[in-house]
Amino acid sequence: MGWFERTYNRIKRGKTKIDIPDGLWTQCTGCSKTIYNKNLEKNIRVCPECGYHFYLGAHDRISVTLDEASFSQYNSNIRPNNPLGFPEYEEKLSKGVEKTGLDEAAIIGKGKVGGVPIVVGVTDFGFMGGSMGSVVGERITLAAEKAVEEKHPLLLISGSGGGARMQEGVFSLMQMAKTSAAIAKLKQEGVLYISLLTNPTMGGVMASFASRGDIVLAEPGARLGFAGPRVISQTIRQQIPAGFQLSESLLKHGVIDLVVERAKIRDTLIRILNLLS
Ligand SMILES: [Zn+2]
Repeated sequence: MGWFERTYNRIKRGKTKIDIPDGLWTQCTGCSKTIYNKNLEKNIRVCPECGYHFYLGAHDRISVTLDEASFSQYNSNIRPNNPLGFPEYEEKLSKGVEKTGLDEAAIIGKGKVGGVPIVVGVTDFGFMGGSMGSVVGERITLAAEKAVEEKHPLLLISGSGGGARMQEGVFSLMQMAKTSAAIAKLKQEGVLYISLLTNPTMGGVMASFASRGDIVLAEPGARLGFAGPRVISQTIRQQIPAGFQLSESLLKHGVIDLVVERAKIRDTLIRILNLLS
């Protein structure tokens, strides 16, 4: 029995969860409609029906944001190790490499947006949840230092649902202080820092560099915060309101400056850079 018959039979039995073969169609998390993958890619992985923003890997993110072929990577020689001897950490790192084509959860470099030179860093949710270990922290810090050195605006794009990386224990937590100090230095020097938050950006990343932009942009519907809604709900023993921790709600409460749909991010950045740099 093929996937169509299986799905048809299931729907007939009253079960609506659709069984989709790998690689051809995606069921939208936002509206549950099935989207032809080619159409999803054409629409920069935004659902054409409901506007749900799917995960976009770091390489794709760079290519849709920066000027064509303007990106060149910094310090690709920094590699993670396993300072605590945490079980299965190496396997998880290997899986991250396989899934994203990156050697760690962050990639940094320089490039141009609308002809304006910038330093850019991107964390990729596909690599261990985009969590910040010592390599991610070091790279974000180096990006901030490079921006100061070159006097170029810094753009950090975060997709870090994993927050701090528990496999590195305190080495991971200290990256919060290190990256925050690097951003403080950037501000002292009067260098512009734009932070773009994507779904999800949580925990130690949100609580350090990601929330500290001079201008903080976010994609629609992105979950952004420190602890997740389940943990908060269990702690305070109360129901969490609908839309809690989503970009639109954080905009209303002044945590972020602008919610921008993916197709308009590049133009928005060009406008900001032209105004402020
Ligand atoms: Zn949808």
